[in-house]
Amino acid sequence: MSKKFSIPRGTADILPSDISHWQTMEQSARQVLEIYGYKEIRTPIFEETALFARSLGQSTDVVQKQILTLAGDKENSLSLRPEGTASIARTYIENSIDKKESLTKLYYIGPMFRGERQQKGRLRQFHQIGVEAIGTSQPLLDAEVIALAVHLLSEFEINGYQLRINSLGTSEDKKNFSVFLREKLNQDLAALCKDCQGRFERNVFRVLDCKNEGCKKIVHNLNLKDSHLSSESRQYFNKVKATLNLLNVAYQEEPLLVRGLDYYTHTVFEISHTGLGSQDALGAGGRYDNLIEELGGPKAGAVGFALGMERMLLTKGGTEIPLDSVVDVFLASRGESCIEQAVILLNQLRHLGISSDMSYEPDASFKSQTRLADKLKAKYVLFLGEDELKEKAITLKDMQSGQQEKVPMEKIGEVIQNRI
Ligand code: AMP
Repeated sequence: MSKKFSIPRGTADILPSDISHWQTMEQSARQVLEIYGYKEIRTPIFEETALFARSLGQSTDVVQKQILTLAGDKENSLSLRPEGTASIARTYIENSIDKKESLTKLYYIGPMFRGERQQKGRLRQFHQIGVEAIGTSQPLLDAEVIALAVHLLSEFEINGYQLRINSLGTSEDKKNFSVFLREKLNQDLAALCKDCQGRFERNVFRVLDCKNEGCKKIVHNLNLKDSHLSSESRQYFNKVKATLNLLNVAYQEEPLLVRGLDYYTHTVFEISHTGLGSQDALGAGGRYDNLIEELGGPKAGAVGFALGMERMLLTKGGTEIPLDSVVDVFLASRGESCIEQAVILLNQLRHLGISSDMSYEPDASFKSQTRLADKLKAKYVLFLGEDELKEKAITLKDMQSGQQEKVPMEKIGEVIQNRI
């Protein structure tokens, strides 16, 4: 017996019965994003591994544990993209986009890849809708980008989410904060979970959002507020919050929100949904003012976010949509010469923009073809048999009323066009 293949772990087929959820979400995303002045960009799904290591940070969980590297190209290691920002920073620099416009607003919709242990809402291939606005360090834009994420969610009719925001400050503030955190956590180092003991060295901020109860307690006792922020950073954050208030965006300040990637500075935010279980983040983002320059580009402030499509769809319950009317017209014919004429006619109908189909089986009875037409929810069935061929006329049946009439063959396209 030959082997039956299964879908790779951590991936999912999007079947025709599900696709309309995806298409609706993509279409309304494009509409909203274009209203805000964003243009679509498509970059390759793989890049040099070093681009991700440099952008996200060598010591981050994504780079350390989740990057999926392609086998084969030993000289120039390539990896599937785990997120969208690094690729966009690369193309922004490579195409000197800063020379063409002072502010660039880009969006993407597409698959991302992370080598994760599969669980509900956590896949190895998942899809994101994301934006990057590059070219200014104005807090107004941080607020606008957050408001845009919220606007998208309301367009997708997703309710019951929480928006949490925080500020990490400048890279200087971050450095001081990490020194401060290490000093404070040093006394409790042995009580931290194994992961956090590693994070203490590699990426101390991640201790703050560890889910382990023991770690949570230790972090809680640190009583962190915004003392790590310089007064400029605090002012910056105040402006972001004031603008969010102007825009009527409800948020919660969360001093422990740090995000996993190195490139963030100033504002970070996360949107979560309680209906999702342990993988409750719908999307996240923030400002990254140094990334473009660190990758060899100009100094360019930037802010962005990514929303996870699978998780957004999960909040909606994933109802299957029955296959709807598939064609308007079904062409039933029998016998070689009739079928030949039917093929020509079908081609003409399709070129007139009329959705139409036929049975490709030469021996199928008219009865079984009518059954097939019913299944495809055809509004009209055209019969083309020997009689019709002789008369150069088609029998047109309205499937709703059951009425039949003969229509001259050369008129049939026009007649149907007028009825649908
Ligand atoms: P992140 O860059 O990790 O903040 O990802 C942004 C969003 O993408 C998350 O909030 C999730 O909605 C989604 N996401 C990230 N990783 C996965 C995954 N492994 N499976 C499904 N969705 C994911």
